[in-house]
Amino acid sequence: MPAPLLVLDLDETLIHATAVSGPCDFRLGSRCVTVRPGAAEFLLEARQHFRLAVWTARTPAYAHRVLKKLLPPSTPLTFVWSVAECHRAVDSSGRERWFKDLERLRVAGFPLEAVAVLDDAPEALISREARVLAIAPYAGSADDEALNGWTRRLAEVALSLR
Ligand SMILES: [Mg+2]
Repeated sequence: MPAPLLVLDLDETLIHATAVSGPCDFRLGSRCVTVRPGAAEFLLEARQHFRLAVWTARTPAYAHRVLKKLLPPSTPLTFVWSVAECHRAVDSSGRERWFKDLERLRVAGFPLEAVAVLDDAPEALISREARVLAIAPYAGSADDEALNGWTRRLAEVALSLR
């Protein structure tokens, strides 16, 4: 049986990109990007238990530029999905935004009972069966601990999805 799939969001989940200048982990054009504290350890641990994939509501070019900086070169990714795999709809507050319909994962061949999704905007995930790992939005704080909390629980989450 293949390892379960862990689908990672980028912005405000693993990184924070801002136009404001300050201490950056890396730059993308004029944007200053900080990596969430604990991201390297999280990704290392996640690789032990999951197949990894990325789903961002940004463009493919943005995703690949971020991933090139964020991931060690040999990190295998099952897929990188972008805004092209999202859809625009009105949320409960009447605001238009991008949604990720996790049903797409099933259609693409990933049974949702073996999928976990780490995202700071669970309200924009359309899902009934996938495991949603909600995380508070990362806004660049150096003492953010939220990812470390999930790192400690990844083995347990993976086991529960098998
Ligand atoms: Mg996000």
